[in-house]
Amino acid sequence: METIMGFSKLVSLLLIFHLLNPTAVFSSSLSSSKSNGLSEIPKKFLDFAERKEFVDWMVGIRRKIHENPELGYEEFETSKLIRSELDKLGIPYNYPVSVTGVVGFVGTGKPPFVALRADMDALPIQEEVDWEHRSKIPGKMHACGHDAHVSMTLGAAKILKEHVEELKGTVVLVFQPAEEGGGGAKKMLDEGVLDNVDAIFGLHVTHENTIGTVASKPGPLLAGSGFFTAVITGRGGHAALPQHSTDPILAASNVIVSLQHLVSREADPLDSQVVTVAKFQGGSAFNVIPDSVTIGGTFRAFSKASLIQLKQRIEEVIKGQAAVQRCNATVDFHDKPVPTFPPTVNDNDLHEHFLNVAGDMLGNDKVKDMKPLMGSEDFAFYQEAIPGYFYFLGMQDENSPKLGSVHTPHFTINEDVLPYGAALHASLATTHLLKAEPKPRSTEGNLHDEL
Ligand SMILES: [Zn+2]
Ligand SMILES: [Zn+2]
Repeated sequence: METIMGFSKLVSLLLIFHLLNPTAVFSSSLSSSKSNGLSEIPKKFLDFAERKEFVDWMVGIRRKIHENPELGYEEFETSKLIRSELDKLGIPYNYPVSVTGVVGFVGTGKPPFVALRADMDALPIQEEVDWEHRSKIPGKMHACGHDAHVSMTLGAAKILKEHVEELKGTVVLVFQPAEEGGGGAKKMLDEGVLDNVDAIFGLHVTHENTIGTVASKPGPLLAGSGFFTAVITGRGGHAALPQHSTDPILAASNVIVSLQHLVSREADPLDSQVVTVAKFQGGSAFNVIPDSVTIGGTFRAFSKASLIQLKQRIEEVIKGQAAVQRCNATVDFHDKPVPTFPPTVNDNDLHEHFLNVAGDMLGNDKVKDMKPLMGSEDFAFYQEAIPGYFYFLGMQDENSPKLGSVHTPHFTINEDVLPYGAALHASLATTHLLKAEPKPRSTEGNLHDEL
């Protein structure tokens, strides 16, 4: 989630598509949204979320969570706070799901179903921002904005509950644990939270874009990622008598150089990939060749096929190159219990839906196209199961100093972002259900409605 940059517009393309496709004119999302009031919902929800008491309520929740950050699968107090707010709103939920997860339901209780996702976990970082509501837990901090994501999703719950008569189906509120490497999404998915759900939306705050703007793209948005650790074992000895040793330092050095050839020589230059060795541990004296060296790193790619290929070749290169130097190697990909993160790939139809909703709410010029990022998100697990859409919500005030970056002790949230997230969540879900709703087919259904 580190960087967002670059924009160009896609919005008008949509309109052109619809104009060029006469059979779609009356059934298309864009034209029908104009004719049946769908286009008014996003602005109405934003106005609702921007009322002072509503904002104060969301800010209060966010600050409470920020003061008490909890790491993956330990979000007990955060989960309790979510449940108490859902109780106050009269929204039923399932708990516990995947240790601390909460799954709420607003609407008719019947299909169609659409899901909104919030991640709850913090990071093992010591907060260095000096403000009234800083983290009270040493060494832990909400440095990725998940406190804001929870608050915005509760905001969406409140909007939806207060407009429940407009819901033509059910919104599933997915509060998941352990996004930061713990694969909470995968665990939630395995417990069936998305069974019968047609689509899921997720968002992430970012200081890279200005407040009141959103950014995303169809197709691959974030990379899939995996990690590896390799132990290269030789035979230690006196550094002045190398002929009596098998040197794992030299073997590991050759392994690292060879790993760099995977992207530069084996990957398609147009298929972005990364292999980084970020750890090298071995030896403790000037004059001793150690017995073993441990290296570790990460690999990234935008397709599952490329990830599988990289993984296979990383293992082959480490073992093969170690053998050239008369060493042995073992490789661990740390893919149990959490598998390698797949790439975050946005559904094309949901992208059109997002352009419509965000454009209606913020103005088409505030909906930015963005380049893919090499960061990754466990939201991708949901997208492997059902169509999903992930987007970034800008929070940088143009006239204020640059906000601190995610995953740093200086990370800060511009709390003005909260109503935007709440309203976007609620609007994307409500209008998706309205579009998914089967048209009344004949008078028989209506007759029963009258009774
Ligand atoms: Zn993060
Ligand atoms: Zn995050």
